[in-house]
Amino acid sequence: MTENNRTPEPTKRQKSDRLLQEGRERFLNGMERQLQQMEELFDQLGIVPSWQGAEQWYRIVHTIKGSAPIFGLSSIGQMAEELLKEWEWTQSEKLAEQNEAWWVEQAAASLQNSGGVLLQLKLERDFLLRELQLAVQKEFGVKNGNPLENSRVLVIDDDPVLRSYLVKRLELDSYIAEDASDVDTAKRMLHEHHYDLVLLDLMMYPKSGYELFEFLQEDPTLKWLPLIVLSAREDLNDKVNCLMLGACDYLTKPFRYEELAARIYTLLNRTKNFEQMAFRDPLTGVYNRRYFDHHVELELQRISRYPAPISIAFIDIDRFKSVNDTHGHAIGDLVLQGLAHMVQKRLRNTDVLARYGGEEFVVLFPNTTAPQAQKLLNDVLQYANSHPVAQHEGTDYSITFSAGVAEWVPGQKLQQWVRLADEAMYAAKQQGRNRVLTAGADSMVADEAAQQPVPARKRVLVADDDEILRSIVVARLALLPVDVIEACDGDEAFRLLQGEAVDLCILDGIMPGMDGLEVLQRMQAEPELRARETRVMMLSGRRRDDDIARGLESGADDYMSKPFSLIELDRRVKRLLGLE
Ligand code: GH3
Ligand code: MG
Ligand code: MG
Repeated sequence: MTENNRTPEPTKRQKSDRLLQEGRERFLNGMERQLQQMEELFDQLGIVPSWQGAEQWYRIVHTIKGSAPIFGLSSIGQMAEELLKEWEWTQSEKLAEQNEAWWVEQAAASLQNSGGVLLQLKLERDFLLRELQLAVQKEFGVKNGNPLENSRVLVIDDDPVLRSYLVKRLELDSYIAEDASDVDTAKRMLHEHHYDLVLLDLMMYPKSGYELFEFLQEDPTLKWLPLIVLSAREDLNDKVNCLMLGACDYLTKPFRYEELAARIYTLLNRTKNFEQMAFRDPLTGVYNRRYFDHHVELELQRISRYPAPISIAFIDIDRFKSVNDTHGHAIGDLVLQGLAHMVQKRLRNTDVLARYGGEEFVVLFPNTTAPQAQKLLNDVLQYANSHPVAQHEGTDYSITFSAGVAEWVPGQKLQQWVRLADEAMYAAKQQGRNRVLTAGADSMVADEAAQQPVPARKRVLVADDDEILRSIVVARLALLPVDVIEACDGDEAFRLLQGEAVDLCILDGIMPGMDGLEVLQRMQAEPELRARETRVMMLSGRRRDDDIARGLESGADDYMSKPFSLIELDRRVKRLLGLE
């Protein structure tokens, strides 16, 4: 066997499947011509009944009935059989010769009974052919690239044949399609589920499609729902009325599915784009304040019908101004995007995250109590404390945020609710930032229920007599979730170390007075300082191995030679503090 002859031989089963599929396709394609002939005959017989015509019709149907089951197309076979029974009388030629009046009457009655089945036959063929094409595409790995897949379409029509055909075809195009056979059912479904588009038949019994327009217009959540009218009447008045009442489009039956599909596609696409422009924040992609204000009202309306807890939270980045000042607006923008993403990832589908303004976000949590919302935001905050929110050209950027949560209390005014969450956020800032608070009855309470409290920020001491180098290091550390203190010589460094506990000490090797190594040795000598397990990283301009060895022997955890890259600094600090 050669290298390129590796494709396995198709099995017998695969071969016969393939053959069947090909036969099916040929049959369905051929049926187009037969259906065309049937339609022509149908029209002719309606005008001038002819014995020959009726016989020809019978022959075509007979052929279809005979072949369809061979290819496993039982639905087509059944429809043909139904038609065949209707035209069975064409087989008694003797009778016909004797009595023309008799067969003319028969033909008229059979024609009347056949129109519906003929249409069904056409739709079924259409559907099966499309299904077959998709199956072949799938086999060859072609994706059904409908970018609007899973959009929800409601088909409202009292004609069961057309209705089920549309649902099946829409589903083949990857839409989620549901159907209603009358206006009242449709109204109920529209209240209970969300739809992206409605197809509405105008002539329905007992209530006409017109009744739905008023219903849609009155409900602010449904008012702008895209709607296409499907009508059997090519009537200018109907068209104008429907379009004036809020329909986006009007299609006259019979129509080709392809045309309807194209109209559905553009309408959904356009709506999606408009929504994107009107309701989304272009920088972060989350909802904007306009959407939030609108949506929060709807949610409160919904709650008055179906009571449930609901909470909101404001989130504001801590010291964001310094991110902009230190690294520029472009990095500031990345940080905003990163935080939006970090929060969004943890939300449920029904939660709504919006950019409220500047570097402030707001979240609406339906069916969520304040402690639950606070827990979720605490999780996000913890994550932000140990992971960068943005990365750019190999550099990580970290931030913290402060958040305020408020749960809605029945009877509360919207403004009051929003204000309480905002105040809780402000209180979080006051209490030192990097925390989530819930608006309490008389005081802001930190989340005691939260399983893991937000860890205290790590403290880093930077001791170096070179002021420029020190400020570079400090600016760099400001990106990490750490508090930084500085010392300009060894004595000051040691004094600071004796004060509040420090998690990491970055020590320059050569400093006036006590040098880095001496500071390190004195730290080791004092039991109290030793017990604190402060991590130490030595900095040195001397790239000499015995220096490094002496530093490490004296208890340094790491050693970095000058000049060093900020990325390297970043990595080492994070590793020493366990921030990775
Ligand atoms: P605090 O911890 O008190 O919230 O301090 P802060 O610096 O975050 O707050 P302040 O409100 O003083 O500063 C907010 C900054 O956010 C000021 C503004 O330049 C910046 N900002 C607002 N919108 C954007 C934006 O779209 N992109 C960028 N890069 N910065 C923005
Ligand atoms: Mg801020
Ligand atoms: Mg602010």
